[in-house]
Amino acid sequence: MPSAARTTIDAIEVSGKTVLVRVDFNVPISDGEISDDSRIRAAIPTIQSILDRGGSCVLMSHLGRPSGNGFESAFSLAPAAVRLSELLDRPVNLPSDDCLDDASRAAVASIGSGEVILLENLRFHAAEKKGDVDFAARLAIYGDVYCQDAFGAAHRADASMVAVPQAMEGRPRTAGRLLEAELKYLSGAIDSPERPFVAVLGGAKISDKLATIRHLAGRVDTLVVGGAMAFTLLRAMGHDTGRSLVEASMIEEARAIIDAVDATPTTLLLPVDFVCAAAPAAGVETTVSGPDIESGLMGLDIGPASINSFSAAVRAARTVVWNGPMGLFEIPPFDQGTLAITNAMIEATIAGATSVVGGGDTAAAVNDLGLGAGFTHVSTGGGASLRMLEGGPMPGVDTLDLA
Ligand code: ADP
Ligand code: MG
Repeated sequence: MPSAARTTIDAIEVSGKTVLVRVDFNVPISDGEISDDSRIRAAIPTIQSILDRGGSCVLMSHLGRPSGNGFESAFSLAPAAVRLSELLDRPVNLPSDDCLDDASRAAVASIGSGEVILLENLRFHAAEKKGDVDFAARLAIYGDVYCQDAFGAAHRADASMVAVPQAMEGRPRTAGRLLEAELKYLSGAIDSPERPFVAVLGGAKISDKLATIRHLAGRVDTLVVGGAMAFTLLRAMGHDTGRSLVEASMIEEARAIIDAVDATPTTLLLPVDFVCAAAPAAGVETTVSGPDIESGLMGLDIGPASINSFSAAVRAARTVVWNGPMGLFEIPPFDQGTLAITNAMIEATIAGATSVVGGGDTAAAVNDLGLGAGFTHVSTGGGASLRMLEGGPMPGVDTLDLA
């Protein structure tokens, strides 16, 4: 389990040096337009810190899932270079359509202090996803210092995350400001929480969150489980779940996990009622029932009594971590449970609690509501934040010299 970084980019002398920064510019792009630039914004503090101190930045990132056989315009980082240039208010040079060709190498070789280069999508080379050592050695030449700031990819062992810093052994290998914050809040909350410590889990599938439940059992005071994943647990307890989403193959595993949590001091808090409908669509007739649901209906959100008990648990917390929406929040009125948890977490934060949101869909839900600023920390990494909540390995962090 990685701990909060103590030696970060701010502690490294970068004047006159070229810092090779792994950023996460994997932004949503359609028709050449970036619909959400928050990942680019999140990298600004690190980049600015390097430039302000007389360093230069060579930025590298992946974007989407190109085939790995060379340039594909749909996966070009060119729109990200334009946006970054606007945000930094200085030129950003995307030298070529290949991060390792002569043009890219020449641009890096002649970079000047205060200048920024963005290399084209690393995944245009299949070697990136394979963690290839030769590919990494060629990238490693680009930097005097390695800086890891791509939290969203830090649970992956891609070449730019692991083999590049390995190839740069002997040169400083450090965390950027974003990675530092993510580690501080995610591992800080889990490893040394102020109590009561409450975790709220939800989302579609229990199979995605089993490792998280296992890791949090015994660590949190209360484990709140909503979302569709609660139905597999309720089925394991003998309840009728109607046509709600249940992972039939996981029912036995769900029984085992309930017993495992019961064997710890952690209290498991499950929904007692649901907002149900015949189909997951806007404008359908809804009824509240539970904990049993009749055969023709689907539970699509937690009900009012569950909202009350979940909100009370969250408001009483001094540390609260949340991953996974409480219902089918994309379709109103099934967004009310997720909205209620959002509000309860914001109230807890105002009262002095540390509140952390992880998970791609959960963070998107909170940010779409315009309420992200009400939390102590909203993670920029979906899979990576879940990995942290599982206490699993973070290859992109483990190669850094953070002691
Ligand atoms: P995250 O990305 O935050 O980890 P997940 O991907 O696990 O979250 O789950 C998010 C999805 O779960 C959302 O698309 C949401 O609509 C769905 N979901 C949550 N509760 C229900 C439910 N009761 N019925 C159907 N879908 C649900
Ligand atoms: Mg998701």
